[in-house]
Amino acid sequence: MAIDEEKKAVDMLRTLPGDDVRQILWRFADRYDLQMLVQAARAVARGPVARLVAEGARNSHEWTDQKTQLLRAFDESGITAAYMDPDQGGFVQGPKNLALALTAFELSWVDAGAATCSLAGNLALAPIHERGTPEQRETYMRRALPPQPGEDRQVSRGAFSLTEPIPYVGVETGLLSGKVRVAEWQEGKDPVLQVDKRGRFITNMGFANFVTAAVDSGDDRIKGSCMVILEETDPGVFDRGVPTRKLVHQLSSTRDPVFSLRVPATRIIGGYTLKDGVIVPRYSHSEIIEAVFRRTRVTVGLMTSAKLLSAIEPVIRYHRGRFRGGETIAPGSPRYELGLQQKEDVLHRLVEVWATGEASASLGFAAARLFDELDPLERRKDEVLAQQGVGRGSAQTKALRRLHKDALEFLRLAVRPGTERDGSRHQALLADPLVQFLVRDALANVLCPAVKLWNTGHGATMMREAVSLMGGYGITEDCPGFLGQKWMDAQLEATYEGPEAVQRRQLTVTMINELFVEQLRMWIAEMREIAFRRPGTGACALASAMALWLWTLTHLQQATDAEGAKLYHGTRQGVTFPLADALCWLLAARYQILDVLELEAKGPENPSLAEGLPSLLNFLTDLCHVQAARTAGEVGRICAELVHGYNRHPAWDDDGCGATCGLAELDPLDWFVPATAVSAGDTPNATPDGRPHPPKAGPCVRFDGLEQFVRMRLKLDGCLTGARLAKDRAAAALSTVMIPEALDYPQ
Ligand SMILES: Cc1cc2nc3c(=O)[nH]c(=O)nc-3n(C[C@H](O)[C@H](O)[C@H](O)COP(=O)(O)OP(=O)(O)OC[C@H]3O[C@@H](n4cnc5c(N)ncnc54)[C@H](O)[C@@H]3O)c2cc1C
Repeated sequence: MAIDEEKKAVDMLRTLPGDDVRQILWRFADRYDLQMLVQAARAVARGPVARLVAEGARNSHEWTDQKTQLLRAFDESGITAAYMDPDQGGFVQGPKNLALALTAFELSWVDAGAATCSLAGNLALAPIHERGTPEQRETYMRRALPPQPGEDRQVSRGAFSLTEPIPYVGVETGLLSGKVRVAEWQEGKDPVLQVDKRGRFITNMGFANFVTAAVDSGDDRIKGSCMVILEETDPGVFDRGVPTRKLVHQLSSTRDPVFSLRVPATRIIGGYTLKDGVIVPRYSHSEIIEAVFRRTRVTVGLMTSAKLLSAIEPVIRYHRGRFRGGETIAPGSPRYELGLQQKEDVLHRLVEVWATGEASASLGFAAARLFDELDPLERRKDEVLAQQGVGRGSAQTKALRRLHKDALEFLRLAVRPGTERDGSRHQALLADPLVQFLVRDALANVLCPAVKLWNTGHGATMMREAVSLMGGYGITEDCPGFLGQKWMDAQLEATYEGPEAVQRRQLTVTMINELFVEQLRMWIAEMREIAFRRPGTGACALASAMALWLWTLTHLQQATDAEGAKLYHGTRQGVTFPLADALCWLLAARYQILDVLELEAKGPENPSLAEGLPSLLNFLTDLCHVQAARTAGEVGRICAELVHGYNRHPAWDDDGCGATCGLAELDPLDWFVPATAVSAGDTPNATPDGRPHPPKAGPCVRFDGLEQFVRMRLKLDGCLTGARLAKDRAAAALSTVMIPEALDYPQ
């Protein structure tokens, strides 16, 4: 082999990334318990789950005996117990966000309905787990644990019931029609409550034994709202309702139940106090769902990431084999060996799908790990504040707000070189659990909605790309990898647990928290530094895109539109929502780069990776570059629309603008004439042929103060250098990478 060819062969990606690589990228290489869980979940996904799909179990929305086998498989494999603490019979120590995220990822690799079926049980338990009394936790977590050796009992399965029939709860979770009233209250005894609740689209309802339901008070003797636990054996009506005629996630059960039940007041999640003869629940329903969703939404986001990454192998196999078997197509010929991979477009599109899958997985797992860090800090924060006599709710919020200054100081000290900072102050802030909580909480409040929004929303769009790459096959039930079903399923992931509007609304608030903004500032410096060391990652474009986004945010918070109305405002979703979308792109690309750097640092420690590591790193780096460039494009487009789009367009001359007046040849920066230099009637810059442009009085005022923005956009475009070369390299790698002969699950 010629030296060049030999070098090329060494540089080319050899195989698809395996477990060793994923464990490093997603930081569970030292977690044997999680590695075992991944293997167990994979065996269920590629065994019983895949068989069910292949046998057509998705063709019915009824909960069938065939589908019930799934529950047994979850129990026997340890998936059900993974949610419990060891003292409740589980086997994963400590916080379980990453554990559940990995489980959902594995199941969704084959079918996200199966993942939802498993996770909905955890969702039902989550209100109890997060905010339940110790007795509630002990009772319901234990009942949900599969029977241990020597035990003879049924597993208790749950459903989470928030959404109600129209016109009540959906996106607007405050519009509750479910009611709780006092049915009976005997002196010296616990009150008995009457709960009336109707649910819409409630997962697991075909078989749930208990339900955690959100209800509002319908009685002067009960304050506010709460969540209550309902059991199928409670006196009254426990009607599972009609099955939802879903087009998606058919391996989970969804129904519209009706409940009218009498339950003891001890079923109020988190308990209650009595104040002047009124039952005061410790937690409102919104406090509980906030605590629940901020964790579970990350897991949902990872379901769509799994779909994207699972599409790579079947698409490559389809493309390679597309023309094999034809009389005139001889083995060894490019048409036989490469098939559709001879065409650049299919390779480039698959590179985009893959890059999106990597970025979304990196973002999702980073968020899951962050919640694992945050969970103990949150508990510590509650303890410390309780010791200080600070109550929950607004009192806590106020107390924490007073510490923002300290948290900000910590962030600023953290990036200073050791020799230039007050070391003891830095140490003190580092050891302060409240400060550490605030810093991570600010980030988690952005990452959670970002994962849910971007991974599922943009992920669904990219799943369509994957489906399209399979041609007609893609939209048949026979499509390898079940890609058609996965495309449709992704839309449900974008919808349930709060559709995109909910996530964008949350980001509108959390992304302007100064503690988050300061971290973003630090990331700009971080990406610049990475760009210096590893320019091939696209970190340079990403740093410039982050800077542009931050500039735009600051500008929009101060600017008004052509009518003088404020731009950055909760009601102005046309401004805030796109800006939230742009931020998600930035986050995903950042975590993707950080993961690849982790692999670069830790990969060499694993001997089994040694041989293929350099080529894999090159390939993953190219994917980072592709994704960073796409991110820069999206962010640039969104920011430009927002910055310029709310100004009124100046009057043009009769020729219009651009091509006809020669403007396209101008240096865009020549366009700028600061407002101070332009008085009405002045002629600003001229086109190359000497004609004034724009011609009417004072139109350049619209650029007043925006010079910096345009310079930043120009710089951003320049940062795209090399991005397409990276895409070409990644595409070439797709045409040579080895894949197994067949998928490792039934079709
Ligand atoms: C298969 C399936 C399973 C489900 N499982 C469960 C479950 O187990 N438990 C449960 O409680 N719920 C469940 N749901 C319900 C799900 O969470 C809701 O459907 C979802 O939160 C959206 O509510 P909605 O359908 O009422 O949409 P709507 O509230 O009607 O919103 C429709 C659309 O209007 C727009 N919109 C609405 N409000 C705003 C706003 N303020 N700003 C901007 N845009 C807005 C958005 O585009 C939104 O997507 C499930 C749903 C499905 C389909």
